[in-house]
Amino acid sequence: MLKRLFKLISPKGSNSNTTQQPIIIPRDQHNVSRKLISHAAIKVMRQLNDHGYEAYLVGGGVRDLLLGAHPKDFDVATNAKPEQVKSLFRGARIIGRRFKIVHVRFGREIIEVTTFRGHHEAARNEHGMVLRDNVYGSVQSDAVRRDFTVNALYYSLDGFAVHDFTGGIHDLEKRTLRIIGDATTRYQEDPVRMLRAVRFAAKLGFTIAPQTEAPIRPLADLLANIPPARLFEEVLKLFLAGSATATFHLLREYNLFGQLFPGTEAQLATGDPIAMALVEQCMCNTDKRIRAGKSITPAFIYAALLWPVQQAKLKQLQGSMPQGQAFAEAASQAVGQQLARTSIPKRFLIPMREIWDMQHRLTLRSGGRAFKLVEHPRFRAAYDFTLLREDAGEKLGGLGQWWTKFQSADEAERQTMVKSLKSGGGNSGRRRRGGRKKNTPKQG
Ligand code: ATP
Ligand code: MG
Repeated sequence: MLKRLFKLISPKGSNSNTTQQPIIIPRDQHNVSRKLISHAAIKVMRQLNDHGYEAYLVGGGVRDLLLGAHPKDFDVATNAKPEQVKSLFRGARIIGRRFKIVHVRFGREIIEVTTFRGHHEAARNEHGMVLRDNVYGSVQSDAVRRDFTVNALYYSLDGFAVHDFTGGIHDLEKRTLRIIGDATTRYQEDPVRMLRAVRFAAKLGFTIAPQTEAPIRPLADLLANIPPARLFEEVLKLFLAGSATATFHLLREYNLFGQLFPGTEAQLATGDPIAMALVEQCMCNTDKRIRAGKSITPAFIYAALLWPVQQAKLKQLQGSMPQGQAFAEAASQAVGQQLARTSIPKRFLIPMREIWDMQHRLTLRSGGRAFKLVEHPRFRAAYDFTLLREDAGEKLGGLGQWWTKFQSADEAERQTMVKSLKSGGGNSGRRRRGGRKKNTPKQG
């Protein structure tokens, strides 16, 4: 479909991406069907149209439908002001300060409605970063303020046509990710666009256009100016979109990974094969789980990403304090260093620390301990993490396999497994009288 379309519309020799005259692709020449758009998004557009406003579907929704993929969410752009949008919908609220947007809620679905942005000299900080951008304009001015040409395609219910102001259809056809306007300026305005470039290139399998990619490495350290909470949100989008493996490698290629995870990057840069295998294996498992529709927790991903940092710090601290204390101190240092870059909300930080702390407890299996441990709410994640460590090449004496067997064994077999641990010289894990552990076994 797009091939035919491209032949139809491709302006010879033109690759400027700031065309103000839109290319309009009529309904019979594109594959964006109303049936594939969420009812909520259609309702929002209709309601806006019924009140005399323009409304377009834009962003990932149009891009992914044109590519024959399932959009993650639907974004609507309109000439109605945020307050006007809000007044039209019961479940609507205005969010954001830098950019005001309206979230319209329909049950569990949220449609993001943005007002067309206008041309103006936006307020900037000393790094050229845009601080506020709430000047409104037309659909044309809105298009050139978006990030990539393939994200600036507009679909309206009025004639069901796709409107292309920036050459997005051409780039979609060529599978090229191209920033709108001057790349350096656009990354300075908002450095997160560099992460978005990598995310879309990995997710869509697109090539980043040479002029779009060239400034990324030199400007990568502008990400230091982005608040940790925003970077945390971006990390989730980077690794939870089903292309974590490709994204991880591209992030490293463009020197962006170290901006997000400086400790992990330092460890990878030493050539530590276990660190690399652990992170790669974690990304690969994440992608597989997403494809299989299984749940994913950022706690596990962060546990894996920061484990090499924790282990390196543990090595430095070993000998200077008791082992258990060194483990906790190394964990605190690894986390503390990370929080300066990306926040980690408590609801993920606490389970992440539990996954780490349980790595040691999983070695203590004698008496009734193994029976209690399998019932622990964090057992599954901790066990998966042990398997991951072993897959990455850590030598844990068959610990993962032992737990795999224990879980499928019946009561009698379990008792035998635990007994043979003792006679086989396995870790008794018994506490000495007085409650203090003797020679706390090496963790990790
Ligand atoms: P996804 O499939 O991840 O939802 P998306 O392209 O829809 O991809 P969103 O983050 O939902 O991405 O943003 C919606 C649209 O808003 C984008 O397609 C883009 O046009 C615009 N946009 C988002 N973030 C930026 C940004 N930092 N700078 C410029 N435009 C942006
Ligand atoms: Mg979107």
